[in-house]
Amino acid sequence: MKDRLLGLLLFLPVPAVLWLFTRAPLGVVASLSIGILLMASHRLYARPFSLSRAPLRCLWCGGPAKDGPRLTIEEPSGPTEWRACRPSHAVRLKAVFSAAHLARWPLRIGILGGLLVLFGTGAATSLAPALPVRFTDASALFRLAVALVVTPFGWLASLRRPVDTEPVRVPFPLHIQALIGTAFMLWLFRIVGIVWLAATASYFAHRF
Ligand SMILES: [Zn+2]
Repeated sequence: MKDRLLGLLLFLPVPAVLWLFTRAPLGVVASLSIGILLMASHRLYARPFSLSRAPLRCLWCGGPAKDGPRLTIEEPSGPTEWRACRPSHAVRLKAVFSAAHLARWPLRIGILGGLLVLFGTGAATSLAPALPVRFTDASALFRLAVALVVTPFGWLASLRRPVDTEPVRVPFPLHIQALIGTAFMLWLFRIVGIVWLAATASYFAHRF
């Protein structure tokens, strides 16, 4: 229970960064700069925490793993050891990670492309306020690009048949989802994805 709460606490910078990036509550330059700093520094404390709990917590549900099955997962920085609390949770993890590996290019393009558009347009609207593009356009494009890839991934990934190869490969580091559990991360993708799709559709319908 303590680890679940600590994990949730260490996850809070993620929604904080999204809030700064999409709402720019402190002005565009300050919000994007603080967001980038929070994003860059998150790994420094979140990754050691997640790796230290990897033998103790289930990577799927975040609960105690006890003596459940071990998983070696090939992250972009190299192989790491994780655990599930029961065989069925290990199967779901393998299914989602093999889906992520399969969808790695759409996921990268949607998320990194969305960030590039956001930063580029954010800088342009600050340097040249006379431009016909507004920061709200950049924020909507960012949310649209991310939602277009994470919504189908969130709904479809766990339906994939797990591939039983060791080690399992993932296209992104695992420490962020390990903070709250992969199952909860997928629910965030599903729900936030749908909300962002609806919000950006309504935004562009009013804008043009
Ligand atoms: Zn579990």
